[in-house]
Amino acid sequence: MNSAVMPTYGRVDIAFDRGEGAYLFTNDGARYLDFTSGIGVTSLGHAHPRLVAALADQAEKLWHTSNMFYIPGQERLAERLVANTFADNVFFTNSGAEAVECGIKTVRAHFDAAGDAGRYRIICANQAFHGRTMATISAGGQDKLLKGFEPAVDGFDHVAFGNLNETRAAIGDETAAILIEPIQGEGGIRPAEEDYLHGLRDIADEYGLLLFFDEVQCGMGRTGKLFAHEWAGVAPDVMAVAKGIGSGFPVGCCLATQDAAKGMVPGSHGSTYGGNPLAMAVGNAVLDVILEDGFLDHVEAMGVRLMSGLERIVAGHPGVLAGVRGRGLMVGLACTADPKPLIGKLRENGLLTVVGGGNVVRLLPPLISGETEIDAALGIIDESCAQLGKLGEGT
Ligand SMILES: *Cc1c(COP(=O)(O)O)cnc(C)c1O
Repeated sequence: MNSAVMPTYGRVDIAFDRGEGAYLFTNDGARYLDFTSGIGVTSLGHAHPRLVAALADQAEKLWHTSNMFYIPGQERLAERLVANTFADNVFFTNSGAEAVECGIKTVRAHFDAAGDAGRYRIICANQAFHGRTMATISAGGQDKLLKGFEPAVDGFDHVAFGNLNETRAAIGDETAAILIEPIQGEGGIRPAEEDYLHGLRDIADEYGLLLFFDEVQCGMGRTGKLFAHEWAGVAPDVMAVAKGIGSGFPVGCCLATQDAAKGMVPGSHGSTYGGNPLAMAVGNAVLDVILEDGFLDHVEAMGVRLMSGLERIVAGHPGVLAGVRGRGLMVGLACTADPKPLIGKLRENGLLTVVGGGNVVRLLPPLISGETEIDAALGIIDESCAQLGKLGEGT
């Protein structure tokens, strides 16, 4: 298609007209089960009545005032996030990359405020994804993100995800923090082992480093806990959140302990839009739903149902599928070869999924999915694998 939009995306030639719950509809009435959730964003599905009401209500009152003034919705959402996490305070952004950027600045400012400005380097993991700004592609460190945009921002060192020895060996006099995703998302749904997370906490404590988790994709209920690190019982000092927190409205935030954030003083950081009344109305409504009794248990139960169904399907189609991994409703289906033919076949059969690193089909269903949606998706995946027969043989 000849387009005036900058061609940075390889797009699928479908446009949707409306959404409802776990489903998307095109103009001509075709219906798709949306297990992309806009890449982990529309956590409560499409057109959730409580979010529509919260947004419409706020839209009639006040959209924007600037952070020069107190924003009551922001105070409220920050207090609730603090009450439910390790953190003492929160900075609101419009995106995940800005949330990670805020975390990077929080780390650097922490050591600057401690009179140790020479400590600024952050140890990151291979195959990481932290966003598309200059600092966050540098933190991601992958050639495919940096190509054409070099030089990278200085201050990021990379080691193998899951490897504590390499992490220790990478620590120097200039090291300030360790940054990882508790479950790598774009990298292909790779959950960190609990021992690894405990080990990172111990290393951070031993060397006086800050531990910084990027929960932009795995947070906000996606795994069946509010945040994925809760499964291991390992708290970070700084955390980036976005995607699911706005369920489609652009919202992100950076959470930190008071000590970690001691350099974030008046005038040190800002955002024109971040945390505006519209965004906060939606963010508070999303949190209302996620924190309701039983909601996270539901996510966990649906995750177990999806995972066990997929294990059966993997066993039945060894020519197409190599395995399945993930937690809750953040699941990666590893293929035996390039996953694109399977993703195309799933779409033909009415199920939307998204590619991940390492030959992985990512399944990120909305957290409101019930047994009906999970079982429908399992049926489509089984049927699509049968239709494909084998991957990587010209099928
Ligand atoms: C999506 C993502 C980001 C970047 O978020 P944007 O809103 O696209 O800037 C950062 N970290 C992780 C783990 C992500 O999945």
